[in-house]
Amino acid sequence: MTEGKKIKGDRLKEFYDQTLLCTSCGYCKSVCPAFKGTLWDHNTARSKMVLAYGLLEGEIEVDDSIVQSIFECTTCGDCARRCPSNVKTYEVLMATRQELAEIHCIPENLGSALKNVDAHGNPQGEPASAREEFIPDEAMARIGKGGDVLVFLGCVTSITDMKMTGAIFNILERAGVDYTLLGKKEPCCGFLNSLAGYDSEAFGKKLLEEINNLNPRPKLIVTPCPGCFRTLHHHYPEEGVDLNIEVKHILEFLDQLIDEGKLEVTKKLEGNVLYHDPCDLGRHAEIYEPPRKLLAHFAEVKEFKYNRDESHCCGGGGGLQSTNYDISTIMAMNRLAEANELEADFIVSACPACKAMFSTAAVDFKKETGKKFKVRDLVEIVHKNTKGKE
Ligand code: SF4
Ligand code: SF4
Repeated sequence: MTEGKKIKGDRLKEFYDQTLLCTSCGYCKSVCPAFKGTLWDHNTARSKMVLAYGLLEGEIEVDDSIVQSIFECTTCGDCARRCPSNVKTYEVLMATRQELAEIHCIPENLGSALKNVDAHGNPQGEPASAREEFIPDEAMARIGKGGDVLVFLGCVTSITDMKMTGAIFNILERAGVDYTLLGKKEPCCGFLNSLAGYDSEAFGKKLLEEINNLNPRPKLIVTPCPGCFRTLHHHYPEEGVDLNIEVKHILEFLDQLIDEGKLEVTKKLEGNVLYHDPCDLGRHAEIYEPPRKLLAHFAEVKEFKYNRDESHCCGGGGGLQSTNYDISTIMAMNRLAEANELEADFIVSACPACKAMFSTAAVDFKKETGKKFKVRDLVEIVHKNTKGKE
């Protein structure tokens, strides 16, 4: 029950001034994918600023509509970029989620996914052994053995994306990388928990324990997931967990392998190739040029009209898929419509959630318009179009 509860205010009070800065000009509304998906002002950043102020002042009590407004959002952060008053909308939003989480007011579906994380170690509710189902034999032999590079697959890639999982290890094998992995002992990074308003410190400590068990201890962690990357690279240090190891998104490592001659490009893509910036890698981590540099080995990279820090969300961020799948899908369809205007053949991203959103939406898009897109992750492009050094 959410009705009638009041927030404590400890997390939100430092942003009180931010809620006052909002002039309700509505510029944030012009970019907000949650607004575009629902045409409901309640979902815009300006409404969230008003709600945060009201909750903090004790003028309003929590109810379902407030929880819905705060969580029907991909946390894409485009509102903060667009805001002429420089309101820290993202920080206010996350602090409000933390307040609501503290009094157990989060959407039911999101709560179910978090219960899965507690009970099974992943949001999908799969057994730990599911993490090893798609791992090829040569990589299975390296689980828990230690090595230079630890591959942290993340829950989405390891449990739901057979192609990505196989491609990652096949590339590393052919490039002669001394890598290791954790298999069924890989913990969830806790990113969904942080999106829901909880901290991820315990997940960081668990990962640290697993890393410390590896011998030799890896010098680098690579992950294909921007959410895992943000968590390991930004959130854990903020929460006092020092993994004492460098963390990179895998695309930067793959580009390095090509530059070092350990991977050789064998083919180029034919057709129009658009790169989509994932919010968690782009606006939130400011990694814009490395994916373009990597993709440029394989194609002339074309741009969405809204790209880099202006990129539109695929709909898969912020836990919105758990909260309101229909809005997520509308956002993905809107982005595909943008790609269609540019006559794209390939939509390439560097995020398993973006790939999943676009792949599912592309099926509906083809039914509606006849247009077929090839949706790929950068890892898959590298896998299909390189060979190891002879
Ligand atoms: S753009 Fe900024 S100031 Fe304008 S309504 Fe949105 S949050 Fe408020
Ligand atoms: S973070 Fe994105 S979805 Fe959420 S209010 Fe801001 S622009 Fe809208």
